[in-house]
Amino acid sequence: MAKHQFQTEIGQLLKLMTHSLYSNKEIFIRELVSNSSDAIDKFNYLQLTDDTFKDDAWSGKVFIKLDKEDNSLTIADNGLGMNEEDLMNHLGTIAKSGTKAFVENLTGDAKKDSNLIGQFGVGFYSVFMVADHVDVISKKAGEDQAYKFSTDGTGEYEIKPVTKESHGTVIYMKLKSDEKEFLDKARVEEVVKKYSNHIAYPIMMNFSTEETEGEGDDAVTKMVNKTEQANAATALWTLPKSSLKKEDYVEFYKAIGHDSEEPLKYLHNKVEGANQFTTLFYIPKKAPMDMYRADYTPGVKLYVKRVFITDDDKELLPSYLRFVKGIIDSEDLPLNVSRELLQENKILANIKQTSVKKILQAIKKIKDEDSDTFIAQYNRMMKEGVYTDHVNKELLLDIVKYKSSTEEGLVGFESYISRADSEKKEIYYLTGEDEKVLRNSPLLEAYNQANIEVLIMDDSEVDSIVTPMIGTYKEWALKDITAIDAPDSKTEEEKEEVAKEFKALTDKIKESLGEAIKEVKISTRLTSSPSCVLKDPSDPMAGMAQIFAQMGEEMPEAPLILEINPEHEMVKKLDVLEDDALFDDVAWILLDTAKIAEGLEPKDKGAFATRIASLATKAL
Ligand code: ADP
Repeated sequence: MAKHQFQTEIGQLLKLMTHSLYSNKEIFIRELVSNSSDAIDKFNYLQLTDDTFKDDAWSGKVFIKLDKEDNSLTIADNGLGMNEEDLMNHLGTIAKSGTKAFVENLTGDAKKDSNLIGQFGVGFYSVFMVADHVDVISKKAGEDQAYKFSTDGTGEYEIKPVTKESHGTVIYMKLKSDEKEFLDKARVEEVVKKYSNHIAYPIMMNFSTEETEGEGDDAVTKMVNKTEQANAATALWTLPKSSLKKEDYVEFYKAIGHDSEEPLKYLHNKVEGANQFTTLFYIPKKAPMDMYRADYTPGVKLYVKRVFITDDDKELLPSYLRFVKGIIDSEDLPLNVSRELLQENKILANIKQTSVKKILQAIKKIKDEDSDTFIAQYNRMMKEGVYTDHVNKELLLDIVKYKSSTEEGLVGFESYISRADSEKKEIYYLTGEDEKVLRNSPLLEAYNQANIEVLIMDDSEVDSIVTPMIGTYKEWALKDITAIDAPDSKTEEEKEEVAKEFKALTDKIKESLGEAIKEVKISTRLTSSPSCVLKDPSDPMAGMAQIFAQMGEEMPEAPLILEINPEHEMVKKLDVLEDDALFDDVAWILLDTAKIAEGLEPKDKGAFATRIASLATKAL
């Protein structure tokens, strides 16, 4: 008999399960039944595709046994089973980083934490909400030795060899003294129906009941053992839509998606024709916690004619849809389709293409509050789609949303163009890291004055890379306002005249600032600020942000253009100033304050501070 220590994270999890979680304890049944169903799926696939496992007499089943005398509940299956190594790896350690993240994210708030259970593959450990001793007896298909894994949910477990006739897993739970409700047949049946009604395999309830035989004085009452099927056992996605209610979809989602919340949206489609398949997809209300991890768990399972093929294929949907959970069931793929070669399979490529369109169309139709929830969780994913999925770019552009200089909340391109000048057909935007800086940017002044809406894109990491490559939306050109002339009512001649009038001043500022800037210009975009800085659109570096980001490098600072506002007091006075040292200081302040207003830093912060102090002293 070998004693083992649970991995630290599991220790933490067990503590949580045993001491703090109390709401919604019944979900442990759902979690165990779902594990059983997965194990049956896996054996079913094996026996259909590998002759060594062929067993015509076998049919997958889950068994639940209630034993009042023993105070125990047992959930068993005739699925794939686990060997010694599996028991240690799957039940003794948390292998997936997503699950580790779950443990790290626990808040200590029992209610919130219990909602998270199961979402990250901690399903099995939920038994410790109700049990104080658990034995897992399992035999892996194709192997001779069975093993028993025992623990009472403190930091240790034991594994020893035992005998078990057939492959599969038995989970025996000794219930805590105050959890007797799970010995009640009606109560357990209710939980099974609620969460596991449409698991594809029958769940057989084994229980003892009092029965009376004979009548009157001859009547004898005795305990009888009975077995009944507790669920419908029809894979939900195979049923006609018209026979299913919203609750059916929601409960099925909770069972397969390991989520305690309702999904935001579900879509069930049967596609007939040259290629026949059924899909059932769900969009969770909350993004899976491992969504931003490279080793995220894919949410979609592939079936062929209701036989499970894989739940570990990241290519069933494009990676920007990795938050979608559900099922793809194909009628045309061969059962023994090689899991390695799935990517090259034309039938699957076709299913994928159709599925993506359907999902995006469904997302586009999400309205009001739900749309806000969706955008809050998945806007970034949709932007990733804009960048990577050229086929569906138009659909994705209808979904993404941004902040706006004139509207409250978030707006989409469609609503933007409904408000904008339809002759010009231009969509203006400004990207940066900080919403406040962007909103106060001097670059917006001219647009605000002319009442022209500008999209405020403050998810810089993504927007600065994705937006420049959008190009157009429905023939409307996207324009970065730092790279174009501002809207104004002055004619070219008038502009030239002002430029001429201030030529001496702009030349002199350029002389003061030297290499720190590329050019000094008279601005037509400013109203209240004395100056602003802009990227030079003709600079080859301007369009390179994307390339640098792809290489994981920071972009070298591109030379800027300084624009000054000829209407501003500061500029007017500077134009007639005779003190050269003071002129120099003010020129630098025009540049540095303009940079700060764009969220950039002055090149020499010390010198900037000294100049401000010196000017303040003079002013006093
Ligand atoms: P999850 O099911 O989300 O992976 P669990 O903690 O519930 O997380 O289970 C961990 C792993 O243990 C499963 O992925 C599976 O490999 C294995 N396992 C659990 N229950 C069974 C079972 N009844 N039969 C076979 N393997 C099982």
